[in-house]
Amino acid sequence: MKVYKFGGASVKDAHAVRNVVKIIGMVKGEPLVVVVSAMGKTTNLLEKFVGRFVLGGHIAEDIQRLKLYHEEIIRDLFSEPTEVLTKLNDVVDMIKNSLDRNIDYDQLYDQVISQGELLSTLIVSKYTATHFPVRWIDAREYISTNQSFREAKVDWPATRSKIQNLKQKGINCPIITQGFIGRANNGMTTTLGREGSDYSAAIFASCLDAESVTIWKDVPGVMTADPKRLPGATVFPELPYQEAAEMTFYGASVIHPKTIQPLANADIPLYVKNFDDPSLPGTKIHACQLDEIPPLIVFKDNQCLVSCKMPDYSFVSENQLSVIFKTLSDAEVKINVMQNSAISFSFCVDYRENKIQPLIEALSKLFEVYYNTNLTLVTIKNYTPELCDEYRAKPGILLEQLSRSTVQWLFRSASGS
Ligand code: ASP
Ligand code: MG
Repeated sequence: MKVYKFGGASVKDAHAVRNVVKIIGMVKGEPLVVVVSAMGKTTNLLEKFVGRFVLGGHIAEDIQRLKLYHEEIIRDLFSEPTEVLTKLNDVVDMIKNSLDRNIDYDQLYDQVISQGELLSTLIVSKYTATHFPVRWIDAREYISTNQSFREAKVDWPATRSKIQNLKQKGINCPIITQGFIGRANNGMTTTLGREGSDYSAAIFASCLDAESVTIWKDVPGVMTADPKRLPGATVFPELPYQEAAEMTFYGASVIHPKTIQPLANADIPLYVKNFDDPSLPGTKIHACQLDEIPPLIVFKDNQCLVSCKMPDYSFVSENQLSVIFKTLSDAEVKINVMQNSAISFSFCVDYRENKIQPLIEALSKLFEVYYNTNLTLVTIKNYTPELCDEYRAKPGILLEQLSRSTVQWLFRSASGS
């Protein structure tokens, strides 16, 4: 049993969908579960218009854009598109009907956003069925979660038993299902956090005891840096689980951060491969020990550095630190780097205005708070002295943090790359 995951870019148009079917077709005869994300930038579009709707804005144009985008793909793929177009209309009606300003925003978000995955898997499975038999399943019937909308936590025992049941009944043709979505015990749809389809693939793989997971991407594998930023970046042929997990922690967006843990626990290898050229070896993430791992450079933009200073020039005590951490934890804000000095404590976080401004307000009641936005966090794992020198020579460094394996700098944006 294998699990494949195709992200938005791999199903962004009709040509891409045809390619997906070709790749699925290569594993004929073996049981396969295929997890698919929403097409192209659909999730961003849905996210934008839910936000606008809640603020009382007009969304008719956005809904039309969503419909036309999918309609164009359907018309290109099917010589007889009527049935699929009817389904598209049904989904669009469902979106319209679920828009209700009286329900909690996060809950509404999940009910609407999830339609992107339902729509894409519907199109991909109907098109695959014109080539060979497939089975579409609703991931919400298998992935059970709590009610933390937008960041739902998986109920592993319930999920495991449902997915194992699926396996016991026999998988005799490829199964196509959605990434990113689940169902809470009150029956509502939930989502697992943006870009969470990789995690869905890992959940299915873990519960199915799969032999491997393959994430199909537009890059040739896990790379030493984002090739759009550093064109000289190369592919890691293999990586230990731990290394890959740490990369995601530092902001490498190639794999969703929650993906590695369930796979490492079950010792299931994860392949990251290129959907344009499946013959390329890609990267294998598994239990291995490597003598030397080349440096990995991760850029994280849109960072904010917050410094809390005691107003009376006294030292920052453990007591005050505990207040700062409690405030961060209550606001569900993750620290990317932190540093303290005698009279101040500084931390760097992703700048999401709606979360960070209230946080700064809360801290300002107790401290003198200073902050800088529009920063870039550069992390180099397994650095070399030469690389350190190169980055240290760049202008605009606000903070440096060095350990034996990792160095991080916070730059004013545009100076770091
Ligand atoms: N479609 C969702 C998103 O863009 C999930 C995913 O792509 O993994 O966040
Ligand atoms: Mg996506």
